[in-house]
Amino acid sequence: MIEHRPDAATAKQELTAKYPSKLAKKRGQQMVANKVEDGNVVPEVLANSRTAPGIITQRGCTYAGCKGVILGPTRDIVNITHGPIGCGFYSWLTRRNMTDPGPDGENYMLYSFSSDLHENEIVFGGEKKLEAAVREANELFHPKAISIFSTCPVGLIGDDVHAVARKMKEELGINVFGFSCEGYKGVSQSAGHHIANNQVFKHIVGLDDQVRGQKKFRVNLLGEYNIGGDAFEIEELFKRCGFELVATFSGNSTYGQFANAQTADLNMVMCHRSINYVAEMMEKKYGIPWIKVNFVSANATAKSLIKMAEYFEDAELLARTKAICEEELAKVEVMRKKYAARTHGKSVVLFVGGSRAHHYQELFKELEMKVLAAGYEFAHRDDYEGRKVLPTIKVDADSRNIEELHVEKDEALYRAYLSERKERLEAEGYTFSDYAGMMPEMDTDSLVIDDISSYETEKLIELWKPDVFCAGIKEKFVIQKMGIPCKQLHNYDVGGPYNAFRGAVNFYRDIDRMANSPVWKLTLASWQEESVESASPVLEPALA
Ligand code: SF4
Repeated sequence: MIEHRPDAATAKQELTAKYPSKLAKKRGQQMVANKVEDGNVVPEVLANSRTAPGIITQRGCTYAGCKGVILGPTRDIVNITHGPIGCGFYSWLTRRNMTDPGPDGENYMLYSFSSDLHENEIVFGGEKKLEAAVREANELFHPKAISIFSTCPVGLIGDDVHAVARKMKEELGINVFGFSCEGYKGVSQSAGHHIANNQVFKHIVGLDDQVRGQKKFRVNLLGEYNIGGDAFEIEELFKRCGFELVATFSGNSTYGQFANAQTADLNMVMCHRSINYVAEMMEKKYGIPWIKVNFVSANATAKSLIKMAEYFEDAELLARTKAICEEELAKVEVMRKKYAARTHGKSVVLFVGGSRAHHYQELFKELEMKVLAAGYEFAHRDDYEGRKVLPTIKVDADSRNIEELHVEKDEALYRAYLSERKERLEAEGYTFSDYAGMMPEMDTDSLVIDDISSYETEKLIELWKPDVFCAGIKEKFVIQKMGIPCKQLHNYDVGGPYNAFRGAVNFYRDIDRMANSPVWKLTLASWQEESVESASPVLEPALA
């Protein structure tokens, strides 16, 4: 911890001081000193804008967002990467998505399927090889569905994955569909999320109309990916309260859940950036309203559960949910006090994801730590400033590159009573279809940085020396070599679950261990006087 940190405006100047003027101007628009004014009005931040060439970014590619984030956690769809082996291999199970293989045991998440394109296909086309790969996967596993993901070379040589998918669907008699999610297609992985949402909605949602399980309190959870077992914690709570979880998009999910998702009465959006498109399309087509929830942190979990229960206007459900929250919050509070006594006053910065940098601030608040700065890798302005700015977001060429599905009301399946309930509750002050964004909940004078670069990460550590840095695997070891513990919030290192009540306690414990471990004081950072290079080596006598 350092006593006198430069303020956010000074830090911003320092971070951009060495850039050429054009780049400094652009980065200046992507970094703002936060200021929360009446009506939760915050400064505008430039987001979802291409990273300048030469900058080392945290971002992933469009293919990674489509295949890795959205479809990766679904266990019984064979996901074939159409491309050179590297794209498939390096996106294989890196996020620690967990699943329950269920009674059928059908789980393809442990495999990496690829058409394995070589030079020959790059020159002469890869469609035949892709067809062979789809046939082979079908013969070996007999899955319900096979999906095909396009990588950069596929877009460059012009293979038509959708034509192959249509042909194989007819030949094999199972659902086969493709994604035009070439890595270069968008600004970041965010484009891949949108493409994945569109195709899952178009090819799967609505295929199965049978209402299974409990007839009432039916919900879908959107934007939860079961990292480290998070979904298992949430699912258990839903059961205890009395909600029937129809589908999760897509932690611990199955093809059958997606196909049946339109039978739910409420959609809850957790990661707003990656999945709001599905919520919007389901509301238009089936009349299912959506609300924003957050199961990261004990208080946020209780708030979300109670909001879900209020929606169903059932006194018994609400009373049971409130009682469970009260009981769990009391247990968590004992542990929170124990850990907060050790983490109180420490500082943290979070640069991760498109919602995680916001959601995890709740847990740090519970640990009584100060959030100095935060930002996203792939968010859009509404994730920072709230959905109220949606009408003012300029649609650029990159956004136009992603298909906008034209969705219409399904006259047979649209449930008007759900939209009537929405209207009634809205009149009573209940909020639907809204996300207030990250910045209104951050302190004035904290620093918000979109798409932080590797250089800025190092500079920020030099300036502010936070006690904990939250980021991903690409940044982790650079940060730790500077003597600052780094918590990965994409895959939790080897930790988790961190969601819901028990998950919150796991997080308190892990952050306490990191923030208070003496090991970091033994690491020489680059700003320290005696650098590693200049320290005298201590050699074994035989080598001296
Ligand atoms: S950027 Fe292109 S080549 Fe790289 S992993 Fe993504 S799809 Fe593959």
